[in-house]
Amino acid sequence: MIDLHTHTTESDGSLTPVELISEGRRVGLEALAITDHDTLDGYDKAAPVAHGIELIRGIELSTSWQSRSVHLLAYFPHGDPGNEFRDWVLTLNHQRRQRNLLLAEKLRTAGFPIDFDEFSRGAGPRICRPHFAAAMVEKGYVASRQEAFDRFLAESGSCFVPREEPNFVEAVLKIRLARGVSVLAHPARIVRDPSCLAAHLGWMRAAGLLGLEAYHSDHSLDGQIAWAALAREHSLIITGGSDFHGAGNSKDELGTGIDGNLCVPYAVVDQLRSVL
Ligand code: AMP
Ligand code: MN
Ligand code: MN
Ligand code: MN
Repeated sequence: MIDLHTHTTESDGSLTPVELISEGRRVGLEALAITDHDTLDGYDKAAPVAHGIELIRGIELSTSWQSRSVHLLAYFPHGDPGNEFRDWVLTLNHQRRQRNLLLAEKLRTAGFPIDFDEFSRGAGPRICRPHFAAAMVEKGYVASRQEAFDRFLAESGSCFVPREEPNFVEAVLKIRLARGVSVLAHPARIVRDPSCLAAHLGWMRAAGLLGLEAYHSDHSLDGQIAWAALAREHSLIITGGSDFHGAGNSKDELGTGIDGNLCVPYAVVDQLRSVL
């Protein structure tokens, strides 16, 4: 069993990279990729303690495609992506910070002030919307993080602030130039079912997309089979992961997903290595 989609305190997860390695060992993972939003720092911090578990460099990027936010996973099984890619990722962090300032201001204007400095100290290096949601629960503005998203923070929420995101094709190219494997993350969050994506995968493949995350804890078992079939039809490799954010953040369990709906085979790691 492996897990190629996880988050740590370097973005919006609740375990540190070192704690995630321990948890991975406890649940019996053979391989693990840390795919924090907009940073490779999780890998860098976990690598020294990752004995007995194969750690793969990864990152999750939010990109824009037809006015939608589409998440791309990038994996670097052959080594470090290099400074040009790392510098580009730093510019994405800058866009995130700008979004966060605007979001805090919008919430304040709407009557929900949060002490940005105070909560950013506790949140770690990269502030994500779930940190805002947690702060709103703490302030008593909402009863749950999900309510914070549903009413205020989600795209349909009243305080949503769009982020400047790199174009999907640009991101795929940057990943490819850095010797990375780009994978379309949780496709069911982009379109309702596989048939809706089929018409687009041809040009996405031509642009350099190499994989589809058919196995994801959001997907039902039938869904995983259908997404995997679509990936095969378009000669994309099939990857998978839980999207683990840590206990208490969601129902996802590391490696096994929601109610055990996930079991990603080790063969996926071999495919990641051989696709480039
Ligand atoms: P950000 O990258 O700061 O915009 O935060 C995005 C993260 O917020 C995602 O990776 C999810 O972990 C979480 N998120 C996004 N939309 C929702 C939602 N509707 N309900 C709950 N969590 C969400
Ligand atoms: Mn997240
Ligand atoms: Mn995502
Ligand atoms: Mn994720």
